Amino acid sequence: MAGGRAKAEVVVLGAGVVGLTAARLLQEKGHRVLVVAQGLGEASRVPVALVNPLRGRRFTLAPRGEEALEAALRFYSRFVPLHLGVYRPVPEGERERVALRLGGLRHTWEEGGVLLEEAFWLEPRPLLERLAEGLSLLKARVLAWEPPYLVLEGGERVHGEVLVYAGGGQGAHLLGLEGRHIPGLVLTLLDYFPRAISYRVYLAGSVLGGSYLPHQRTPEAPPPTEGEAEWLLRGAEALLGYRPKVASAWRGVRFRLANPSPLGSTVGLPYLFPVAGGFALTGLGSTGFLYAPWLGERLLAALEKRGSVGEL
Ligand SMILES: Cc1cc2nc3c(=O)[nH]c(=O)nc-3n(C[C@H](O)[C@H](O)[C@H](O)COP(=O)(O)OP(=O)(O)OC[C@H]3O[C@@H](n4cnc5c(N)ncnc54)[C@H](O)[C@@H]3O)c2cc1C
Repeated sequence: MAGGRAKAEVVVLGAGVVGLTAARLLQEKGHRVLVVAQGLGEASRVPVALVNPLRGRRFTLAPRGEEALEAALRFYSRFVPLHLGVYRPVPEGERERVALRLGGLRHTWEEGGVLLEEAFWLEPRPLLERLAEGLSLLKARVLAWEPPYLVLEGGERVHGEVLVYAGGGQGAHLLGLEGRHIPGLVLTLLDYFPRAISYRVYLAGSVLGGSYLPHQRTPEAPPPTEGEAEWLLRGAEALLGYRPKVASAWRGVRFRLANPSPLGSTVGLPYLFPVAGGFALTGLGSTGFLYAPWLGERLLAALEKRGSVGEL
């Protein structure tokens, strides 16, 4: 290949949960896939991820949430242990409203709230390692998206018949994708919570997390603040009746797209859409782990619908 050192049928930019999941699903169906990334995940390196389709304090069922949960259970259980059961305390007087929002999610009511039996938490870092095993991975920084090439730092080029952008917030500028970058803080604790609890903040495994800071326009991670840690600990105290002891802190930044793609969505959700040279899978905010397998399956279907990827 002129001017390049690697080529593949599908080249995925990004080795977070989204890129690696898509790459695995495509490779398992016989596609020749190459993943190009600076490292294994950015936001996806969060110490614990909840896979929970019932979102926020309003208990909103995520669009296609039941299907996404099913795909997530099916896919991740092949790679890492899943810790089933997310308990959601429900405020007095809100049971009826919440009951109407549960859709087809398997659940059990308990005295103070509802247990989502098939929602779960997992440890992302072993997951990323396991997903990367057996994939062709090129560790490099991408400086430009010039279909059918990715231009790497140092000037080398990688050729893909289809390019898939899964570079999260850090690489969004390469495609001119604008969005909100939402910092989050996760405290690791000395306590361990085998069953996740989530209301305002969440406790799962040995972490306490939640969203406190407003969004920003750039992906740089701001330093943790005392206000955030205090807000998290107060939230934990409200759930537990005591303040858990903190061992360390991890900062990450989520990415949400500002505008739906001008070229339209491929699956009715704004996270998978056509771009020059292929597709983008990005902007998932706090739901990357929930949607990655479902979106990966949809990407596979979109590629196969076109018969030959060369026709894209
Ligand atoms: C504090 C916090 C808590 C969260 N909790 C949850 C949760 O409980 N459940 C949940 O579902 N989600 C959660 N999320 C969101 C979740 O982490 C993200 O939605 C998900 O990780 C996004 O994955 P990704 O693969 O798109 O991107 P990332 O993990 O950000 O990966 C981006 C990849 O692209 C590569 N890349 C980017 N630019 C370049 C470039 N120029 N050259 C080469 N490589 C590049 C990076 O090296 C990396 O491999 C949380 C996020 C944060 C910050």
